[in-house]
Amino acid sequence: MKVLRSPKKMQEVAERLRRQGKSIGFVPTMGALHEGHLSLVRRARKENDRVVVSLFVNPLQFGPKEDLKRYPRPLAVDQEMLKKEKTDFLFLPSPKDFYPAGYQTFVEVTKVSGGLCGAFRPGHFRGVATVVAKLFNLVRATRVYVGAKDYQQACLVKQLVRDLNFDLQVRVMPLVRERSGLALSSRNRYLSASERERALTISKTLKWIRDEVRRGNRNLAALRRGTHERLRRGLDRIDYVSFVQPETLQPVIKIRGRFVAAVAGWVGKTRLIDNVIISR
Ligand code: AMP
Repeated sequence: MKVLRSPKKMQEVAERLRRQGKSIGFVPTMGALHEGHLSLVRRARKENDRVVVSLFVNPLQFGPKEDLKRYPRPLAVDQEMLKKEKTDFLFLPSPKDFYPAGYQTFVEVTKVSGGLCGAFRPGHFRGVATVVAKLFNLVRATRVYVGAKDYQQACLVKQLVRDLNFDLQVRVMPLVRERSGLALSSRNRYLSASERERALTISKTLKWIRDEVRRGNRNLAALRRGTHERLRRGLDRIDYVSFVQPETLQPVIKIRGRFVAAVAGWVGKTRLIDNVIISR
């Protein structure tokens, strides 16, 4: 596995691969890798001649009071994991190279960034869209792999690729969970044993919603009430409980076809998100 730190070098390598007719599968990450990330790398490995993984804790997508400083950065372990998955290139840019003094260009995907996490993390999706656009210009991938764990982010990437005419396929991969049901996340490392136990309330509640809908419950108000009630037993704070259309992320008014139930909440100082796609 070759480690590339310079954006220019990354672009040169990608250009050369393109000229050689090689397909490039790209997995953007912030590191602290787990099986969720690796599921994307494995799929990229299967479907492409070369695999590029980027690891960059993007300062632009963290709010002033968020966890940028304490975000886990176990670089050596991450590198080992990526080597095992036969990653060809690890792109490791520095914040200084990505946003040098005088940097002033930002990308905004307006509607998709509006609700859900966008309402609670001002500027977050602008940071995500900006870094993703920069990465796409440097990695020149054939396919990019993103996880349904960050459902709104996956929608944003699809919209951005469409709107800015990136020559790139977006592949959204299923959410990977622990056996307990807990959605894998780099932020799970923040949780103590008892917090981890309380965090399970989220996946259990999402499962309850799915089961209720399958049993024929179509009463959105009651589902919402039941969800809040259950989440309150484990979470210290609920940011949102949303039932949205899978493509537009607009609120569901009546349960008919497929929809997404998405939740964000806090256990202690850790913010967790999770979702489930419900197709009765
Ligand atoms: P992150 O490092 O948290 O920015 O995530 C990098 C990529 O991995 C994103 O596309 C995430 O959606 C994806 N990802 C993170 N956790 C999971 C998971 N539990 N299952 C599937 N994909 C995930």
